[in-house]
Amino acid sequence: MKEASVDRPYLLLTPGPLTTSATVKEAMLRDWCTWDSDYNGLVQSIRERLTALATKRSDEYTTVLMQGSGTFSVEAVIGTVIPRDGRLLVLTNGAYGNRIAQMARIYGIAVSVQDFSETEPVVPERVEQRLSEEPDITHVAVVHCETTTGMLNPIAAIAAAVKDSGRTLIVDAMSSFGGIPLDVADLRIDYLISSANKCIQGVPGFGFVIANRRSLMRCEGQARSLSLDLYDQWATMETGDGKWRFTSPTHVVRAFDQALRELEQEGGIEARCERYKANQELLVNGMQQLGFCALLKKPLQSPFITAFYCPPVASFSFMELYARLKAAGFVIYPGKISAADTFRIGTIGEVYREDIAKLLEIMEELRFW
Ligand SMILES: *Cc1c(COP(=O)(O)O)cnc(C)c1O
Repeated sequence: MKEASVDRPYLLLTPGPLTTSATVKEAMLRDWCTWDSDYNGLVQSIRERLTALATKRSDEYTTVLMQGSGTFSVEAVIGTVIPRDGRLLVLTNGAYGNRIAQMARIYGIAVSVQDFSETEPVVPERVEQRLSEEPDITHVAVVHCETTTGMLNPIAAIAAAVKDSGRTLIVDAMSSFGGIPLDVADLRIDYLISSANKCIQGVPGFGFVIANRRSLMRCEGQARSLSLDLYDQWATMETGDGKWRFTSPTHVVRAFDQALRELEQEGGIEARCERYKANQELLVNGMQQLGFCALLKKPLQSPFITAFYCPPVASFSFMELYARLKAAGFVIYPGKISAADTFRIGTIGEVYREDIAKLLEIMEELRFW
Protein backbone atom coordinates (compact mmCIF):
# COMPACT_ATOMS: atom_id res chain seq x y z
CA MET A 1 0.00 0.00 0.00
CA LYS A 2 1.16 3.52 -0.77
CA GLU A 3 0.32 6.65 1.15
CA ALA A 4 -1.55 9.41 -0.67
CA SER A 5 0.70 11.94 -2.40
CA VAL A 6 0.47 14.73 -4.97
CA ASP A 7 0.97 12.14 -7.71
CA ARG A 8 -1.58 9.86 -6.18
CA PRO A 9 -4.09 11.77 -4.08
CA TYR A 10 -6.42 8.77 -4.02
CA LEU A 11 -6.55 5.16 -5.04
CA LEU A 12 -8.99 4.38 -7.87
CA LEU A 13 -11.29 1.53 -6.87
CA THR A 14 -13.01 1.73 -10.25
CA PRO A 15 -13.27 -0.53 -13.30
CA GLY A 16 -10.75 1.54 -15.27
CA PRO A 17 -8.99 3.76 -15.83
CA LEU A 18 -7.45 2.43 -12.68
CA THR A 19 -4.48 3.10 -10.46
CA THR A 20 -1.29 2.27 -12.37
CA SER A 21 2.23 1.78 -11.01
CA ALA A 22 4.73 4.65 -10.93
CA THR A 23 6.90 2.76 -13.42
CA VAL A 24 4.03 2.50 -15.92
CA LYS A 25 3.50 6.26 -15.68
CA GLU A 26 7.26 6.95 -15.94
CA ALA A 27 7.43 4.95 -19.16
CA MET A 28 5.55 7.79 -20.87
CA LEU A 29 8.37 10.33 -20.40
CA ARG A 30 9.74 9.94 -23.88
CA ASP A 31 8.62 10.93 -27.37
CA TRP A 32 8.52 8.46 -30.25
CA CYS A 33 8.48 8.65 -34.00
CA THR A 34 5.60 6.60 -35.38
CA TRP A 35 7.41 5.29 -38.44
CA ASP A 36 10.73 4.54 -36.77
CA SER A 37 11.60 0.87 -36.26
CA ASP A 38 12.15 1.42 -32.49
CA TYR A 39 8.49 2.23 -32.09
CA ASN A 40 7.12 -0.21 -34.65
CA GLY A 41 9.16 -3.01 -33.08
CA LEU A 42 7.52 -2.21 -29.77
CA VAL A 43 4.08 -2.44 -31.39
CA GLN A 44 4.87 -5.82 -32.94
CA SER A 45 6.20 -7.15 -29.66
CA ILE A 46 3.05 -6.02 -27.86
CA ARG A 47 0.84 -7.69 -30.47
CA GLU A 48 2.74 -10.95 -30.14
CA ARG A 49 2.70 -10.90 -26.37
CA LEU A 50 -1.05 -10.22 -26.28
CA THR A 51 -1.73 -13.13 -28.61
CA ALA A 52 0.46 -15.35 -26.43
CA LEU A 53 -1.45 -14.24 -23.31
CA ALA A 54 -4.71 -15.18 -25.02
CA THR A 55 -3.81 -18.64 -26.29
CA LYS A 56 -1.19 -21.36 -26.43
CA ARG A 57 -2.06 -21.82 -30.15
CA SER A 58 -0.87 -18.34 -31.09
CA ASP A 59 -0.30 -19.14 -34.78
CA GLU A 60 -4.10 -19.35 -35.24
CA TYR A 61 -4.68 -15.87 -33.79
CA THR A 62 -3.49 -12.31 -34.39
CA THR A 63 -3.84 -9.09 -32.41
CA VAL A 64 -4.97 -5.73 -33.78
CA LEU A 65 -4.47 -2.53 -31.76
CA MET A 66 -7.01 0.26 -32.25
CA GLN A 67 -6.94 3.90 -31.16
CA GLY A 68 -9.59 5.15 -28.76
CA SER A 69 -11.25 3.77 -25.65
CA GLY A 70 -12.46 0.19 -25.43
CA THR A 71 -15.80 0.99 -27.03
CA PHE A 72 -14.01 1.98 -30.25
CA SER A 73 -12.53 -1.51 -30.52
CA VAL A 74 -15.91 -3.16 -29.86
CA GLU A 75 -17.39 -0.95 -32.56
CA ALA A 76 -14.55 -1.79 -34.96
CA VAL A 77 -15.40 -5.48 -34.56
CA ILE A 78 -19.17 -5.05 -34.88
CA GLY A 79 -18.84 -2.73 -37.88
CA THR A 80 -16.29 -4.91 -39.68
CA VAL A 81 -16.89 -8.60 -39.14
CA ILE A 82 -20.59 -9.00 -39.87
CA PRO A 83 -21.32 -9.29 -43.61
CA ARG A 84 -24.20 -7.36 -45.22
CA ASP A 85 -26.44 -10.44 -45.17
CA GLY A 86 -25.44 -11.43 -41.62
CA ARG A 87 -27.49 -11.23 -38.43
CA LEU A 88 -26.10 -10.56 -34.96
CA LEU A 89 -27.52 -12.01 -31.74
CA VAL A 90 -26.48 -10.02 -28.67
CA LEU A 91 -26.74 -11.75 -25.29
CA THR A 92 -27.39 -9.04 -22.73
CA ASN A 93 -27.45 -8.63 -18.97
CA GLY A 94 -26.24 -5.09 -18.58
CA ALA A 95 -25.26 -1.78 -20.16
CA TYR A 96 -22.26 -3.05 -22.14
CA GLY A 97 -24.27 -5.74 -23.89
CA ASN A 98 -26.95 -3.17 -24.68
CA ARG A 99 -24.27 -0.89 -26.12
CA ILE A 100 -23.26 -3.60 -28.62
CA ALA A 101 -26.86 -3.93 -29.80
CA GLN A 102 -27.04 -0.14 -30.16
CA MET A 103 -23.91 -0.11 -32.33
CA ALA A 104 -25.39 -2.75 -34.62
CA ARG A 105 -28.60 -0.73 -35.00
CA ILE A 106 -26.67 2.43 -35.89
CA TYR A 107 -24.78 0.54 -38.60
CA GLY A 108 -28.03 -0.92 -39.94
CA ILE A 109 -26.93 -4.46 -39.07
CA ALA A 110 -29.78 -6.94 -38.51
CA VAL A 111 -29.76 -7.63 -34.79
CA SER A 112 -31.62 -9.81 -32.30
CA VAL A 113 -31.30 -9.38 -28.54
CA GLN A 114 -31.65 -12.13 -25.96
CA ASP A 115 -31.89 -10.51 -22.53
CA PHE A 116 -31.23 -12.32 -19.27
CA SER A 117 -31.88 -9.37 -16.91
CA GLU A 118 -29.21 -7.53 -14.98
CA THR A 119 -28.93 -9.85 -12.02
CA GLU A 120 -28.99 -13.19 -13.87
CA PRO A 121 -26.18 -14.78 -15.86
CA VAL A 122 -26.48 -15.72 -19.53
CA VAL A 123 -27.93 -19.26 -19.66
CA PRO A 124 -26.13 -21.32 -22.35
CA GLU A 125 -29.05 -23.76 -22.83
CA ARG A 126 -31.36 -20.88 -23.67
CA VAL A 127 -28.80 -19.51 -26.14
CA GLU A 128 -28.61 -22.90 -27.81
CA GLN A 129 -32.41 -22.94 -28.06
CA ARG A 130 -32.53 -19.42 -29.52
CA LEU A 131 -29.90 -20.28 -32.12
CA SER A 132 -31.89 -23.30 -33.27
CA GLU A 133 -35.03 -21.13 -33.57
CA GLU A 134 -33.29 -18.36 -35.54
CA PRO A 135 -31.15 -20.06 -38.19
CA ASP A 136 -30.32 -16.77 -39.94
CA ILE A 137 -28.17 -15.63 -36.98
CA THR A 138 -24.56 -15.68 -38.15
CA HIS A 139 -22.76 -13.93 -35.25
CA VAL A 140 -23.20 -13.90 -31.47
CA ALA A 141 -21.80 -11.24 -29.13
CA VAL A 142 -21.54 -11.53 -25.36
CA VAL A 143 -19.86 -9.63 -22.54
CA HIS A 144 -17.59 -11.80 -20.39
CA CYS A 145 -17.63 -9.72 -17.20
CA GLU A 146 -20.63 -7.37 -17.33
CA THR A 147 -19.05 -4.44 -15.53
CA THR A 148 -22.50 -2.97 -14.89
CA THR A 149 -22.93 -5.43 -12.02
CA GLY A 150 -19.63 -7.33 -11.89
CA MET A 151 -21.38 -10.44 -13.23
CA LEU A 152 -19.05 -13.06 -14.69
CA ASN A 153 -20.92 -14.83 -17.48
CA PRO A 154 -20.19 -18.59 -17.96
CA ILE A 155 -18.06 -18.05 -21.04
CA ALA A 156 -16.91 -21.64 -21.67
CA ALA A 157 -20.47 -23.03 -21.83
CA ILE A 158 -21.72 -20.04 -23.86
CA ALA A 159 -18.82 -20.47 -26.31
CA ALA A 160 -19.59 -24.18 -26.69
CA ALA A 161 -23.28 -23.46 -27.43
CA VAL A 162 -22.40 -20.80 -30.03
CA LYS A 163 -19.55 -22.64 -31.73
CA ASP A 164 -21.24 -26.07 -31.78
CA SER A 165 -23.95 -24.41 -33.86
CA GLY A 166 -21.37 -22.97 -36.25
CA ARG A 167 -21.77 -19.27 -35.45
CA THR A 168 -19.03 -16.65 -35.18
CA LEU A 169 -18.38 -15.63 -31.56
CA ILE A 170 -17.51 -12.09 -30.41
CA VAL A 171 -16.58 -11.61 -26.74
CA ASP A 172 -16.29 -8.25 -25.00
CA ALA A 173 -13.69 -9.22 -22.40
CA MET A 174 -12.84 -5.60 -21.65
CA SER A 175 -12.86 -5.82 -17.87
CA SER A 176 -11.69 -9.44 -17.58
CA PHE A 177 -8.86 -10.07 -20.06
CA GLY A 178 -5.53 -10.30 -18.27
CA GLY A 179 -7.28 -10.82 -14.95
CA ILE A 180 -8.60 -14.35 -15.41
CA PRO A 181 -7.09 -17.31 -17.27
CA LEU A 182 -8.78 -18.20 -20.58
CA ASP A 183 -7.65 -19.62 -23.93
CA VAL A 184 -9.37 -18.19 -27.01
CA ALA A 185 -8.43 -21.17 -29.17
CA ASP A 186 -9.74 -23.73 -26.67
CA LEU A 187 -12.98 -21.74 -26.36
CA ARG A 188 -13.08 -21.17 -30.15
CA ILE A 189 -13.65 -17.43 -29.68
CA ASP A 190 -13.37 -15.62 -33.02
CA TYR A 191 -12.92 -12.07 -31.68
CA LEU A 192 -12.01 -11.08 -28.13
CA ILE A 193 -11.89 -7.39 -27.26
CA SER A 194 -10.16 -5.61 -24.37
CA SER A 195 -8.36 -2.34 -23.70
CA ALA A 196 -5.14 -0.90 -22.30
CA ASN A 197 -6.55 0.46 -19.08
CA LYS A 198 -8.22 -2.53 -17.45
CA CYS A 199 -6.61 -5.72 -16.09
CA ILE A 200 -3.34 -5.25 -17.99
CA GLN A 201 -3.03 -2.06 -15.90
CA GLY A 202 -1.92 0.37 -18.59
CA VAL A 203 -3.19 3.91 -19.12
CA PRO A 204 -6.19 4.70 -21.37
CA GLY A 205 -5.78 5.41 -25.10
CA PHE A 206 -6.24 2.26 -27.13
CA GLY A 207 -8.04 -1.05 -27.26
CA PHE A 208 -7.14 -4.35 -28.85
CA VAL A 209 -8.81 -7.24 -30.63
CA ILE A 210 -7.49 -10.78 -30.50
CA ALA A 211 -8.83 -12.30 -33.70
CA ASN A 212 -8.95 -15.74 -35.17
CA ARG A 213 -6.89 -15.32 -38.36
CA ARG A 214 -9.21 -17.35 -40.57
CA SER A 215 -12.26 -15.37 -39.45
CA LEU A 216 -10.52 -12.01 -39.88
CA MET A 217 -9.22 -12.90 -43.36
CA ARG A 218 -12.83 -13.03 -44.58
CA CYS A 219 -13.57 -9.43 -43.56
CA GLU A 220 -11.79 -7.38 -46.21
CA GLY A 221 -13.89 -4.55 -47.61
CA GLN A 222 -16.75 -5.19 -45.18
CA ALA A 223 -16.26 -2.31 -42.73
CA ARG A 224 -18.94 0.34 -42.42
CA SER A 225 -16.43 2.91 -41.13
CA LEU A 226 -13.06 4.09 -42.41
CA SER A 227 -11.26 4.76 -39.13
CA LEU A 228 -12.79 1.72 -37.41
CA ASP A 229 -11.99 -0.74 -40.20
CA LEU A 230 -10.57 -3.65 -38.20
CA TYR A 231 -9.38 -5.53 -41.27
CA ASP A 232 -7.54 -2.57 -42.76
CA GLN A 233 -5.98 -1.70 -39.40
CA TRP A 234 -4.77 -5.29 -39.14
CA ALA A 235 -3.49 -5.42 -42.74
CA THR A 236 -1.49 -2.22 -42.25
CA MET A 237 0.03 -3.44 -38.96
CA GLU A 238 0.80 -6.84 -40.40
CA THR A 239 2.37 -5.73 -43.68
CA GLY A 240 3.87 -2.51 -42.29
CA ASP A 241 5.65 -4.29 -39.40
CA GLY A 242 3.76 -2.52 -36.65
CA LYS A 243 2.58 0.59 -38.45
CA TRP A 244 -0.78 2.10 -37.46
CA ARG A 245 -2.91 3.67 -40.18
CA PHE A 246 -3.38 6.96 -38.34
CA THR A 247 -1.52 8.68 -35.49
CA SER A 248 -1.11 6.20 -32.69
CA PRO A 249 -1.06 6.92 -28.94
CA THR A 250 2.71 6.47 -28.69
CA HIS A 251 3.15 7.25 -24.99
CA VAL A 252 0.25 5.01 -24.07
CA VAL A 253 1.71 2.19 -26.14
CA ARG A 254 5.05 2.55 -24.37
CA ALA A 255 3.32 2.53 -20.98
CA PHE A 256 1.41 -0.59 -22.05
CA ASP A 257 4.68 -2.33 -22.89
CA GLN A 258 5.81 -1.63 -19.31
CA ALA A 259 2.45 -2.83 -17.94
CA LEU A 260 2.88 -6.12 -19.82
CA ARG A 261 6.33 -6.55 -18.28
CA GLU A 262 4.87 -5.97 -14.85
CA LEU A 263 2.13 -8.52 -15.48
CA GLU A 264 4.85 -11.02 -16.29
CA GLN A 265 6.88 -10.05 -13.21
CA GLU A 266 3.83 -10.57 -11.04
CA GLY A 267 3.65 -14.17 -12.29
CA GLY A 268 1.30 -13.79 -15.25
CA ILE A 269 -2.49 -13.90 -15.46
CA GLU A 270 -2.90 -16.67 -12.85
CA ALA A 271 -1.02 -14.69 -10.20
CA ARG A 272 -2.86 -11.49 -11.03
CA CYS A 273 -6.18 -13.30 -10.86
CA GLU A 274 -5.28 -14.58 -7.37
CA ARG A 275 -4.49 -11.04 -6.20
CA TYR A 276 -7.77 -9.68 -7.57
CA LYS A 277 -9.70 -12.59 -6.03
CA ALA A 278 -8.07 -11.98 -2.64
CA ASN A 279 -8.93 -8.27 -2.89
CA GLN A 280 -12.53 -8.99 -3.84
CA GLU A 281 -13.13 -11.65 -1.19
CA LEU A 282 -11.74 -9.43 1.52
CA LEU A 283 -13.94 -6.60 0.27
CA VAL A 284 -17.19 -8.57 0.10
CA ASN A 285 -16.71 -10.30 3.44
CA GLY A 286 -15.72 -7.06 5.13
CA MET A 287 -18.60 -5.10 3.65
CA GLN A 288 -21.02 -7.83 4.69
CA GLN A 289 -19.77 -7.61 8.25
CA LEU A 290 -20.42 -3.89 8.14
CA GLY A 291 -24.01 -4.59 7.08
CA PHE A 292 -23.74 -3.98 3.33
CA CYS A 293 -25.30 -6.44 0.93
CA ALA A 294 -23.83 -7.37 -2.47
CA LEU A 295 -26.16 -7.19 -5.46
CA LEU A 296 -25.10 -10.58 -6.85
CA LYS A 297 -24.79 -13.93 -5.13
CA LYS A 298 -21.17 -14.97 -4.58
CA PRO A 299 -20.89 -17.55 -7.40
CA LEU A 300 -21.94 -14.87 -9.93
CA GLN A 301 -19.43 -12.23 -8.78
CA SER A 302 -16.22 -11.52 -10.67
CA PRO A 303 -12.92 -10.64 -8.98
CA PHE A 304 -12.93 -7.27 -10.77
CA ILE A 305 -15.78 -5.14 -9.52
CA THR A 306 -18.61 -5.66 -7.03
CA ALA A 307 -21.95 -3.90 -6.80
CA PHE A 308 -23.50 -3.27 -3.38
CA TYR A 309 -27.02 -2.17 -2.54
CA CYS A 310 -27.25 1.31 -1.09
CA PRO A 311 -28.56 0.68 2.43
CA PRO A 312 -32.27 1.59 2.54
CA VAL A 313 -31.88 4.02 5.42
CA ALA A 314 -32.42 7.77 5.32
CA SER A 315 -29.00 8.39 6.86
CA PHE A 316 -27.24 6.90 3.81
CA SER A 317 -26.29 8.98 0.79
CA PHE A 318 -23.97 7.72 -1.98
CA MET A 319 -22.65 11.22 -2.65
CA GLU A 320 -21.73 11.62 0.98
CA LEU A 321 -20.06 8.20 1.08
CA TYR A 322 -18.20 9.09 -2.11
CA ALA A 323 -16.99 12.44 -0.77
CA ARG A 324 -15.89 11.04 2.57
CA LEU A 325 -14.03 8.12 1.00
CA LYS A 326 -12.38 10.45 -1.49
CA ALA A 327 -11.17 12.67 1.35
CA ALA A 328 -9.76 9.53 2.98
CA GLY A 329 -7.92 8.49 -0.22
CA PHE A 330 -10.30 6.19 -2.10
CA VAL A 331 -12.48 6.80 -5.14
CA ILE A 332 -15.37 4.39 -5.72
CA TYR A 333 -17.94 4.14 -8.51
CA PRO A 334 -21.66 4.88 -8.71
CA GLY A 335 -24.11 2.14 -9.66
CA LYS A 336 -25.18 1.59 -13.24
CA ILE A 337 -28.21 -0.67 -13.10
CA SER A 338 -31.79 0.44 -13.45
CA ALA A 339 -33.47 -2.08 -11.16
CA ALA A 340 -31.92 -1.09 -7.82
CA ASP A 341 -29.97 1.63 -6.05
CA THR A 342 -26.36 0.44 -5.98
CA PHE A 343 -22.75 1.57 -5.84
CA ARG A 344 -19.69 -0.28 -7.07
CA ILE A 345 -16.19 -0.90 -5.79
CA GLY A 346 -13.45 -2.11 -8.11
CA THR A 347 -10.65 -4.41 -6.96
CA ILE A 348 -8.32 -4.22 -9.99
CA GLY A 349 -5.26 -2.10 -10.78
CA GLU A 350 -2.31 -1.44 -8.50
CA VAL A 351 -4.46 -2.43 -5.52
CA TYR A 352 -3.59 -4.86 -2.75
CA ARG A 353 -5.23 -6.48 0.26
CA GLU A 354 -3.75 -3.83 2.57
CA ASP A 355 -5.56 -1.18 0.53
CA ILE A 356 -8.86 -3.01 0.85
CA ALA A 357 -8.29 -3.52 4.58
CA LYS A 358 -7.73 0.22 4.95
CA LEU A 359 -10.86 0.98 2.96
CA LEU A 360 -12.87 -1.29 5.26
CA GLU A 361 -11.46 0.45 8.34
CA ILE A 362 -12.59 3.78 6.97
CA MET A 363 -16.00 2.39 6.01
CA GLU A 364 -16.39 1.21 9.59
CA GLU A 365 -15.52 4.65 10.96
CA LEU A 366 -18.06 6.29 8.64
CA ARG A 367 -21.00 4.37 10.13
CA PHE A 368 -24.12 5.36 8.28
CA TRP A 369 -26.41 3.67 10.74
C1 LIG B 1 -14.81 -0.61 -19.79
C2 LIG B 1 -15.68 -1.47 -20.63
C3 LIG B 1 -15.92 -1.18 -21.99
C4 LIG B 1 -15.33 -0.02 -22.73
O1 LIG B 1 -15.51 1.18 -22.12
P1 LIG B 1 -14.70 2.46 -22.61
O2 LIG B 1 -15.21 3.50 -21.68
O3 LIG B 1 -15.02 2.71 -24.01
O4 LIG B 1 -13.25 2.15 -22.42
C5 LIG B 1 -16.69 -2.08 -22.73
N1 LIG B 1 -17.19 -3.18 -22.17
C6 LIG B 1 -16.99 -3.49 -20.87
C7 LIG B 1 -17.56 -4.75 -20.32
C8 LIG B 1 -16.23 -2.64 -20.05
O5 LIG B 1 -16.01 -2.96 -18.77
